[in-house]
Amino acid sequence: MGHHHHHHHGPHHYNPATGNIRFAFFLNLGFALLELIGGFFVNSMAIMSDALHDFGDAFALGLTYFLQRKSGQEGNENYTYGYKRYSVAGALLTSLILLAGAGFVITEAAQRLLQPTMPEPLGMLLFAVLGILVNGEAFFRLKGGGNLNQRAVSLHMLEDLLGWLAVLVASIVLLFFELPWLDPLLSLAISVYMLLHAVKSAWAALKVFLQANPLSNRLEEVKGKLLALDTVRDVHQLRVWSLDGEHHVLSAHVVVSEAQKPAAVAALKSGIRNALKPFAITDVTLELELEAERCAHRV
Ligand SMILES: [Zn+2]
Ligand SMILES: [Zn+2]
Repeated sequence: MGHHHHHHHGPHHYNPATGNIRFAFFLNLGFALLELIGGFFVNSMAIMSDALHDFGDAFALGLTYFLQRKSGQEGNENYTYGYKRYSVAGALLTSLILLAGAGFVITEAAQRLLQPTMPEPLGMLLFAVLGILVNGEAFFRLKGGGNLNQRAVSLHMLEDLLGWLAVLVASIVLLFFELPWLDPLLSLAISVYMLLHAVKSAWAALKVFLQANPLSNRLEEVKGKLLALDTVRDVHQLRVWSLDGEHHVLSAHVVVSEAQKPAAVAALKSGIRNALKPFAITDVTLELELEAERCAHRV
């Protein structure tokens, strides 16, 4: 028994996304090993080739885990804004891997649709149940909330979960009917669905790198909040971009009515920061101007 002392240093706390991604990594690695050994004994090429997929997944998850962990690091001389975008890089990477994977399965499934072969349903069924348990657990751990990176990883786990659900349905039907085209047709449908989601998720990460305004349809609302403050006469050069999709950066020129006492300036700045908090704006840089002052950016 002892006392635990928790030290909090500013806003940098432990991100649950890191632990969730690590969990998915070990789950995938373990399952890949099981598939490799199981596939060898059942003599199933399909299961052994899926082991390859899951080793690839484990590699991608390991890399994503590293990037997510790195993203918690504080800024330094080389990265003055900190490492938050390492997490976005992970999201982009995962989305691209997902895109490539979906493209690969689509071509494979199309080939098998043209030349259908009857698989071994009982072995399929066994691995489908295991696959659903493993990927289902990983998906439900990761889904909902989290950052762009965690959402991309959870999308990937969903892909694998849907894939195994399709194998389950197909293997049950194949126990009773000889429909060799069923399995590739289901794979094709799922892969097209995943392809669309992967494009969406890659675009979301890319938009962060392209410095899109994360509050695009709320910019007027932000401006209104600033103008509503006492002594603020005008706001221009209002710019918002996002470090990682969760922490936004704002800079603006704020025109005040007349020369302010130092205490009033400090109060104004903290008033502005408070007004911006609900917008997930964590980084504010302001330039205060007087009404009489000339500014090239003022209209
Ligand atoms: Zn996968
Ligand atoms: Zn200005």
